Amino acid sequence: MGRKMKKELKRVLSFGAHPDDIEIGCGGTEALLAQKGYEITHVILTSGEAGSDRIPPWEMSAIREKEAIKAAKVIGACGVEFMKYPDGLTGFTREMKVDMIRIIRRLKPHILFVHERNESSLGHRVASELVLEALQAGSGPWFQEAGGEPWSPEIVLGYEVWHPLGRYELSVDISATLETKLKALTCHRSQTAGVRYDEAVRGLARWRGVMSLSGGDAEVFEVIKASQNAINCFKF
Ligand SMILES: [Zn+2]
Repeated sequence: MGRKMKKELKRVLSFGAHPDDIEIGCGGTEALLAQKGYEITHVILTSGEAGSDRIPPWEMSAIREKEAIKAAKVIGACGVEFMKYPDGLTGFTREMKVDMIRIIRRLKPHILFVHERNESSLGHRVASELVLEALQAGSGPWFQEAGGEPWSPEIVLGYEVWHPLGRYELSVDISATLETKLKALTCHRSQTAGVRYDEAVRGLARWRGVMSLSGGDAEVFEVIKASQNAINCFKF
């Protein structure tokens, strides 16, 4: 039964508020899933056009979208979609919720990654709330204007970016893919040129690995939804 379930869990959908969030939060775990044949899609809510004080927003969004596409390839993801919401989310509309339901019903993910619920960044928190609201609403017969059939992933995991999770329920040893994760992160040159996010990511992965007793490097997650049986697919 466990083996059969593992085989069926094949589609992964990851949401990020900005173009580099997914790689930072779950890039190592995604690379492991990609190696096992999972189909991974990234959906990025804003194109991060506020991410520079030098480059104008319209140029910045184009640069960052290209960087996100490159990074996703390094991870082994199949595709990237951009929602192009204005950078600096402070809330969401019903229309945005319908957009998200439409995406979830179209891509039918078995595993879904999103920002953890208590992130210190407002934009990240709003992205998390929007996706989780859409998950709830999209799992039933409501919101027919979104089209498609009701869908609900088996596993929903919250990843950490801007501040470390105080509590987590799942730790994944990413020793085998840490370098891939860092390589993907460096594709976001417009961001990493000024700030050494790679050092923060390496340090956190090491700390997570040591403190969760895996001994290597690790990513940790808030388990928002999952059965124990489903979680077994994260034993690599
Ligand atoms: Zn972000």
